[in-house]
Amino acid sequence: MFSITLSAQYWQQEANYTMDIDMNVEAHQYKGKQTLVYTNNSPDELTKVFYHLYFNAFQPGSMMDVRNLTLPDADGRVGDRISNLKQDEIGYIKVKTLTMDGQPVTFDHVGTILEVTLPKGIKPNTSVTFEMTWDAQVPLQIRRSGRDSKEGIEFSMTQWYPKMCEYDIEGWHANPYIGREFHGIWGDFDVTIHIDRDYIVAGSGYLQNPETIGYGYEKKGQKVNRPSGEKLSWNFKAPNVHDFAWAADPDYVQTTAQVPGGPLLRFFYEKDIETKTNWENLPEYTIKAFEYIEPRFGDYPWKEYAIIQGGDGGMEYAMATLITGKRNMRSLIGVTVHEVMHSWYQMILGTNEALYAWMDEGFTTYATNETMNAILDLKQDNPNAGSYRGYKYVVEQGLEEPLTTHADHFATNTAYGIASYSKGAVFLHQLSYVVGQDVLDRSMLRYYDEWKFKHPTPRDFKRVVERESGLELDWYFEHFVQHTTSIDYSIEGIETTSGGTAIQLKRVDRMPMPLDVVVTLNDGSQMTYNIPLRIMRGAKKVQSTDSTNGFKVAQDWPWTNPDYTLTVPFSKDKIESVEIDPTGRMADLNKDNNVFPRKPKEDKE
Ligand SMILES: [Zn+2]
Repeated sequence: MFSITLSAQYWQQEANYTMDIDMNVEAHQYKGKQTLVYTNNSPDELTKVFYHLYFNAFQPGSMMDVRNLTLPDADGRVGDRISNLKQDEIGYIKVKTLTMDGQPVTFDHVGTILEVTLPKGIKPNTSVTFEMTWDAQVPLQIRRSGRDSKEGIEFSMTQWYPKMCEYDIEGWHANPYIGREFHGIWGDFDVTIHIDRDYIVAGSGYLQNPETIGYGYEKKGQKVNRPSGEKLSWNFKAPNVHDFAWAADPDYVQTTAQVPGGPLLRFFYEKDIETKTNWENLPEYTIKAFEYIEPRFGDYPWKEYAIIQGGDGGMEYAMATLITGKRNMRSLIGVTVHEVMHSWYQMILGTNEALYAWMDEGFTTYATNETMNAILDLKQDNPNAGSYRGYKYVVEQGLEEPLTTHADHFATNTAYGIASYSKGAVFLHQLSYVVGQDVLDRSMLRYYDEWKFKHPTPRDFKRVVERESGLELDWYFEHFVQHTTSIDYSIEGIETTSGGTAIQLKRVDRMPMPLDVVVTLNDGSQMTYNIPLRIMRGAKKVQSTDSTNGFKVAQDWPWTNPDYTLTVPFSKDKIESVEIDPTGRMADLNKDNNVFPRKPKEDKE
């Protein structure tokens, strides 16, 4: 019994970083010093450790380079750009010295991973201290990080330091940096950056010395008395995060805005005549987003959040995001809300994105769609309709791969993008149909409460929703996450039977689903019949969002049976129409046969 209890217990590693970074802005290089206190909370003795050296991806011939040269639909931002980098444009991290508790260790640079053999094993429940020095060159901006972005941001410093790989319940995750998705260890960061005095630094964490350093960081009415010397030293502390990002540019302006009862927002952007107005209007919408998100998805736990112009699109980091800034207003709000949302689905609920990209990108997309609908007052019936269209497209193109595919291992970017973002959002929105919107809403808060600052896996999320709904959901995850089986139900016909009308239903495709069948009578009244799957071991409760009229639970449907007869107590001549899931939340790929009588073609969405 003891060993069963032990192996079922959750644990996670801890990594606390103190870093000292000396920038040479002319050469685009820096020297780094790192003290890393690493705690092994696993039940296993570790004889090796691994560090990510992400900058090494930006070298001709790297795995990221070759991958982008050989993918059928390579990311346009990368393409062959890595192949063409000159010696002074490549990125690198070269580790000079590394010790563990004062003893030298053996290490080997293998592309973007530093493989480290330890002088002695790290025993369970013990801490060790790694001391490292390294030299780095900041690559020309290609993907996410780098110098001199298209929009003229000098340093986008993301995935920029030697970062300990995560060892978790599923083992080591020393993923080479090929393209996408990250995983990290929770801990505290204390980072000091020495940089030429005319640069403004923005980043994760709280600036510790604003009075002496920061343009725009100073308290109101307070005179900043900047120390003399060529460089200034910016010290940031970020508590309980699993990454640290920063950016630096001499031309940043900073504005701030306070979310009532929430964090202080900091905005850093270039003084650009084209984009100035949009950035001046952005805080208002960002505040609205936080106010919508927090009651629905959980509290934002840090006191600050920074929205920084940089990078090459939008990318989430702890307590900060880097986004490109030259966008129309709607796009600027959209990318900001998406990256803000990642504070929940990645920075607080830290799923291993490489293995479960759909749990961070998909959940983020779902919540972003809902938030955008609310804060822009779009009044969309289905804010996730675009995600359903994306999912249908990838299936019809024959490109679909299971959601469980590792983010770097999809055959095409299209398959990755649609699986992670669109099908991930559909997964969640469709789940609101299966268990009911109220139950899903409560599940999202319970998921937050039980898994914040941890690494939840799909089974953890499943158990939360199962407990909240009282339903068994193995089948849903199996079909929709592990496999690519799809959904098609049809109404075959209706006929008079003793006591009313028999509605003939058919499961045409493989994936079973519970059905909401809405019967509309000639007088306009409606009745919803919910047909649960027998394997759910129960049915969803009446939901205000599922029906404004009557709601009845019908006999369950054993999934093995292709056919099902729903008998309703109305005579056939009183029935105007019958429809499966008029809310469109079930990802039925052929909707034409969901209605009876069949609608003419042009009525399709
Ligand atoms: Zn995202």
